[in-house]
Amino acid sequence: MEDWKILLEGESLGLRQEIQLSVCYRRGPGVDRESEVLDTEELVRRGPVGHRMPVKFGSMTWRELADGVFVRRYDYPFDHNVGLILGAEQALVIDSRSNPRQADELLAELASVTKQPIGWLFNTHHHWDHTFGNQRFTESRIWGHRRCAATLLESGEATKKEISEAYPDDASYRDVVITPPTELFEESATIDLGNRPVELAYYGRGHTDNDAVLHVGEVTFAGDLVEEGSPPSFGDSFPIAWVDTVGRLAEAASEVIVPGHGAPVDPQHLVVARFDLAWVGRAAQAGKAAGLRVEEIDLGDSPYPEEPAREALTRAYSELDSKFSQ
Ligand SMILES: [Zn+2]
Ligand SMILES: [Zn+2]
Repeated sequence: MEDWKILLEGESLGLRQEIQLSVCYRRGPGVDRESEVLDTEELVRRGPVGHRMPVKFGSMTWRELADGVFVRRYDYPFDHNVGLILGAEQALVIDSRSNPRQADELLAELASVTKQPIGWLFNTHHHWDHTFGNQRFTESRIWGHRRCAATLLESGEATKKEISEAYPDDASYRDVVITPPTELFEESATIDLGNRPVELAYYGRGHTDNDAVLHVGEVTFAGDLVEEGSPPSFGDSFPIAWVDTVGRLAEAASEVIVPGHGAPVDPQHLVVARFDLAWVGRAAQAGKAAGLRVEEIDLGDSPYPEEPAREALTRAYSELDSKFSQ
C-alpha cells in the first residue's frame, strides 16, 4: 500500500492543482508546444490516436542539451528521442530507432555531428521502437537491463512479425535481426567514456519490467518511464509500481530529463506524471472494491483519454490480483 501513502503525502503538500493542470494540458491536441505542427487542424480533428499522436516537425535537428550531450527527435513513427554523448574518443548513442533503415539514417546523421566512432549503444528498454535498429550497432558494446535482453530473445521475433504486418509499406521491418544488448546489468552500472562517467540505473517496474535510465551530468535520459505530449504507454506496464519508480527516478534525476518520446522536461514534470499515474491505482482499487469490471469504472476524473485509461486499469487489476511474478 506504499503507493497510497505517497499519494496522500503529495496531496498534503497541496499539489492537487498540478493534476488539474496536466489534465487540461492533455485535453489539447497533445502536441509539444515547441514543435512546428504542419497541420494543427487535422491533428485536432483526429483527436488522440491510441496513446500517441503522429506529429510532424518543421525542423528535426540535433539539439545540444549540455556540453557534448545531444538529443534528436524523430517524428516517424512515434516522436522518438535518440541521445548522443561524446566521449574522449568514442561516442555513446541512446536507442537505435525502429528498423535497420532508420538506424542507417541515424548513423548517417551521427556522422555529420561527430567523427567519433559509436563505442556504446544503450537501450532504455526492450520495445521495438527503441531497439529494432540495434543490428546496425554490432561494432558497439550494447548495454541494457538484463530483462531487456531476455524479453527481446523471448518475444522479439513475434513482435517483428506483428510490426511488419502493421507497417506493410516499410519493408525494412521485415529485415530486422533481433539484436539484444550483451552488456547487461540488474540495478546499476557505470560506463567510462574517457572524459566522463555515465550512470545506468534501474528503479523498478513501470512502463515495462526493464526500463533503465542514463544519467550524464545535468541530463537524464529516462526512456519511456517519462512521456511528454502524450499519455504514457501502458501495454506492458505495471501502473501501480510505476508511481514509486518515478519517485525514485525523481530523487536521482538531473535538471533536464529527456523522455522516450516528446520534448525534454524538468523535474516538475515528474511530479505531475506521478499524480497522473497514481489515479490508476486509486481507480483500480476503488473499482475492485465495488466489484466493477474495468469497462465499468467511471473515467470522469481520469487524466488520460479512454483507451490508455482502460489499458492502464486492466494492467492495474492484474497487479492487484498479483498476476505478475515478482
Ligand atoms: Zn516503450
Ligand atoms: Zn517508446
